[in-house]
Amino acid sequence: MTLIELRDLTRSFPGPPEVQALKAVSLEVAAGDYLSITGPSGSGKSTMLNILGLLDRPTVGEYRIDGIVTGALSEDERAAVRAQRIGFVFQAFHLMPRRTVLENVMMPTLYSGVPRAEREQRARDALSRVGLGHRVGFLPTTLSGGERQRVAVARAVVSRPSILLADEPTGNLDQAMSREVLSLFDDLRGDGLTLIVITHDPAVAAHAERRIRIIDGRVSEES
Ligand code: ADP
Ligand code: MG
Repeated sequence: MTLIELRDLTRSFPGPPEVQALKAVSLEVAAGDYLSITGPSGSGKSTMLNILGLLDRPTVGEYRIDGIVTGALSEDERAAVRAQRIGFVFQAFHLMPRRTVLENVMMPTLYSGVPRAEREQRARDALSRVGLGHRVGFLPTTLSGGERQRVAVARAVVSRPSILLADEPTGNLDQAMSREVLSLFDDLRGDGLTLIVITHDPAVAAHAERRIRIIDGRVSEES
């Protein structure tokens, strides 16, 4: 089943000089796919992630998620699709330093209408899933980098999205911690999550099943 479909998508930033950060990109991603995206600095990776995450809109072309033509949606509708279907993980973790691990993971469900007890249970379940059930009451500052990124992953999946978008998720981690995060990605994928991971690290890219390259705004796939 096709989950994500980009068709002839271009994103230009007005200049001068105008920059075409993505040029006529077409890509189909099936539910359950695991993709890596690599490319030189300035090649369009973050622009791609922002569009996939509904944080930005293409200048030309179409982006469908689950058949939904996202260009036709209002900002509120886009925010709703984002909240229900997409989880984000970033290089710098972006955890709230004065909130406990549990509170951080509960945050995305704050306005979901789900009762607090249920939200807390879901957050505890997500933390158990990333192997941090014993850290719920800790502050993020007392955790290792690998543990912090696992908290961020728990936060990204607590709303049970179908897509996880990660921008350099191992960029701040040493090799052992990177392996922890990669093994966690394998688990999530086993549960049916669709993963799209931007990375500079060839070992991280090699872990994915489909490898996408972006060079100067143009996308190609390694076979
Ligand atoms: P990457 O993440 O691969 O390093 P980006 O997607 O951030 O690349 O950027 C791709 C190109 O688009 C670069 O030339 C960058 O300068 C340009 N660009 C990105 N965002 C903006 C913006 N908001 N305004 C103008 N130019 C931008
Ligand atoms: Mg970038």
